[in-house]
Amino acid sequence: MKKATSIPVLMYHHVSDHKGALVTMTPENFESQIAYLASDGYKTLSLEEFLAFKKGELELPKKSVLLTFDDGWIDNYLVAYKVLKKYGVKATIFVVTDWVERSSEDKRPNDDIYIPNHTEGKKLAYEEPASAVMNWDDLNEMIESGLISVDSHSNAHDNEPLGLDEWRDDLAFSKQLLKSRLGIELKHLCWPRGKYTDELIDLAKSLGFEALYTTKRGVNLADSDASEIKRISTKDKDAKWLKRVLWLYSSPTFGGLYARFKQ
Ligand SMILES: [Zn+2]
Repeated sequence: MKKATSIPVLMYHHVSDHKGALVTMTPENFESQIAYLASDGYKTLSLEEFLAFKKGELELPKKSVLLTFDDGWIDNYLVAYKVLKKYGVKATIFVVTDWVERSSEDKRPNDDIYIPNHTEGKKLAYEEPASAVMNWDDLNEMIESGLISVDSHSNAHDNEPLGLDEWRDDLAFSKQLLKSRLGIELKHLCWPRGKYTDELIDLAKSLGFEALYTTKRGVNLADSDASEIKRISTKDKDAKWLKRVLWLYSSPTFGGLYARFKQ
């Protein structure tokens, strides 16, 4: 087996028909990318597998990739999950726990609802979360399928910058909520808006988070440092785009150079 020296982590947000909307991929392009991963023999990872690789405890085949979704939008469950199930592809969802908690208070009338675009969703997430964000039942169902890992994207995804004490409360509460609602011991945190500092990294680690996900491009080596996981922002393009990107970022040398060049 050819072994992976570096694992690309892909970042998705929305999969919906709002073509051209911010951070949104059409279902057609998403299916093209997922079908490619499945047919080309990629091993799609759970969060646990990815962390074990980072720590140098697990060897993975060269064709390995981690798929991540930020925010926990309703289209992840209604659209993307159906495609992932069809191809048996694994992915991770980083949820904003307060949005999920409040979304779970109102029952969604049915699954045939209007799917908001990113701009609408960001407003609804605070005002009417059941119509924009997944609920605990959705997440539990996806976890039980064995395909989906769930972890934290903070509790509140605050619009205002927070002080260290506020961050401590936010992260501790997010951890507690995911433990009580899903029975998960949190280890992974994806920073809202990709913003963090060295103090915040230390704080998150002191609260038991082992792997911290950024929006910085780059390669992820088995170097036992999981405090700044690099991710690749996906584009609303078909499998040809993904193939090129995966080739680039699974090579530590090329990927590292390319990431520096693009920033
Ligand atoms: Zn976010």
